[in-house]
Amino acid sequence: MSNQKLQTPIQYVKGVGPKLAKIFANLGIFTVEDLLYLVPREWEDRRNIKPLIQVRPADFEVIKGEILKVEAPQTRSRFSILKVYLTDKTATLQAVWFNQPFLKKLFRPGMKLIISGKVEISAYDHIMQMLVRDFEIDTGENLKIVPRYPLTEGLYPKKLRSVIRTVLDNYLKAIEDEKTRNALLALHEPKDLESIGQARDFLAYEELFLFQLGLLLRRQEYKEKLKGRVIDAEPVQLDEFNRLIPFVFTAAQDRVLQDILADIKSGKPMNRLLQGDVGSGKTIVAALAAYLTVKSGYQAAILAPTEILAQQHFGKLVKLFEGLFKVDLLTSATASDKKREELFDIDLVIGTHALLEEKVKFKNLAMVVIDEQHRFGVHQRAGLIKKGFSPHVLVMTATPIPRSLALTLYGDLDRSIIDELPPGRTPVKTYFVPEPKRSDAYEFIRLKVGEGRQVFFVCPLVEESSELDLKAAVDEAKRLQNDIFPELKVGLLHGRLKSDEKEAIMKKFLAKEIDILVSTTVIEVGIDVPNATVMVIEHAERFGLSQLHQLRGRIGRGSEQSFCFLIGSPKSQEAKARMKAMLDTSDGFKIAEADLRLRGPGEMLGVRQSGLPNFRVADIIRDEKILQAARSAALEFIERDPQGAHNRWESQRTAVENSKKKLEGSTFN
Ligand code: ADP
Ligand code: MG
Repeated sequence: MSNQKLQTPIQYVKGVGPKLAKIFANLGIFTVEDLLYLVPREWEDRRNIKPLIQVRPADFEVIKGEILKVEAPQTRSRFSILKVYLTDKTATLQAVWFNQPFLKKLFRPGMKLIISGKVEISAYDHIMQMLVRDFEIDTGENLKIVPRYPLTEGLYPKKLRSVIRTVLDNYLKAIEDEKTRNALLALHEPKDLESIGQARDFLAYEELFLFQLGLLLRRQEYKEKLKGRVIDAEPVQLDEFNRLIPFVFTAAQDRVLQDILADIKSGKPMNRLLQGDVGSGKTIVAALAAYLTVKSGYQAAILAPTEILAQQHFGKLVKLFEGLFKVDLLTSATASDKKREELFDIDLVIGTHALLEEKVKFKNLAMVVIDEQHRFGVHQRAGLIKKGFSPHVLVMTATPIPRSLALTLYGDLDRSIIDELPPGRTPVKTYFVPEPKRSDAYEFIRLKVGEGRQVFFVCPLVEESSELDLKAAVDEAKRLQNDIFPELKVGLLHGRLKSDEKEAIMKKFLAKEIDILVSTTVIEVGIDVPNATVMVIEHAERFGLSQLHQLRGRIGRGSEQSFCFLIGSPKSQEAKARMKAMLDTSDGFKIAEADLRLRGPGEMLGVRQSGLPNFRVADIIRDEKILQAARSAALEFIERDPQGAHNRWESQRTAVENSKKKLEGSTFN
């Protein structure tokens, strides 16, 4: 089959061989198909090259000229330099190559070259020079539009272009669809600039369409093939639950609940993403889902990313369901202490990763809630689901991911959004505090504690294992207690404490026995202490924007005005932009969009979780419109012609799955 041909390892392409194949492997290129889809992001237009007299310092420029003179000055080190003077009659420019002495033999006066690279004024002799990145002999025929591919050490642009030429000659015809063939050709060997944009958009659309088709077919498959436990959700039960809680649901919570109730009554397994900004009240929604499940005679589980959060959920839910059902906690600490693996007699279990272990067994798990999903790896999502017989799954996330990311990461889930905060909240006031003003912040804290409020001090912990950062937090707690606030009670919380120590400290903080809690980012997710109304974030510049937003979400949870102080010294433009975004808005979606712009999708989500496919052409930020169109078209296709959609996916799924596999191979190990 022709598809098979596209899977030819590039090692067997003429001119490649094992050594080059290894270099390509670093770029994620293994097959001929990968090479065909190595879509350039930029092109050099060599049709109208500037006369040398018009060339100015620039990060990238293409020029041409005739060689006047070749020089290879002696250097004392092993480092070598080659200087070639080019002229085009309007002016002269010095081209410089480092450590490629063998080129000397190639160049002689009179020869015509096209060179590209960085242009600068030489610090040494003050003349205009180019640090050459790429060159070609000017044959007259290569004065056209030329693609620029990503660069890797050991792979010269000219070599790459010639490999791609070979691949186009021998393998392009193996691609069945003519439009795709033309688009690829238009990108690798463009005739004009207009066709480049069209070709790129076409390929991005194709790629996203196929990806969405796969996700949507999977979503449909859950619904059609799998049976879900039918869970009673009658008005009486809802009334019973409402009597247990001290507030009324917001309209947004109500809407989301209607979605969930419809799912769990349907006899099909629920697969739903619940998105809601920090503090929007997702926990209680999860509690209701668990309540109804247990009422129907099944077990429910809530998975939390940190022990502290699991303990907090446990504390709340035990209280909420007191005398009604058996609620238990399972974290790595409790699992080994009490050796509880068979959870047959428990109605609702709350736990951390420990819940995912092979030996943990349920009787009839019918509801799985995954809190703060963005903190888990994609594989773990599957782990707990396997423990039930196609259980209902509710995935919750506070990271308000932009729509384009949500469609890509969670496109196989139905989606509900809580877009409203409970009533009576006042937005947190956020200030940037330069170092000299630090003592003012301390005074303010003294005042607030005097009024009965509590305070978080957050110290960065870049890695869970970093001794240095840990020490910084410990020292900071000591300093605050001894030197700054001797009259107040300062506590310390970090990830290395034993499970019962963490629990004891959180309990004390909740009971107001601690005024100031110094903490690492272990409090980032989920922690709910409404009386804490002040947060100080030390070295704020070291945190990502979404993380800062999550942290700030720990305050502003009650009706009291809350205050967030960012202390730090942002140096880079990007760090300054992060601080500014925090001062400008408290809207999680706006923050997420800013974060996405500043850092790109992979970084924003963190490598651990990203789960983002490695798109070959598409860029989900830039191509958001195309993505939406592709999703609608895929939906429409499935509705109109389910069999056709299925066949289309089956015939091309390798492309999508390969790109996912590659990513997993490189990122998750
Ligand atoms: P998150 O969505 O960040 O997980 P939580 O579930 O922790 O938010 O809820 C934040 C706080 O809001 C909790 O103290 C919770 O009890 C409270 N809360 C939730 N829903 C409501 C509501 N409808 N009215 C008033 N308070 C609510
Ligand atoms: Mg939460």
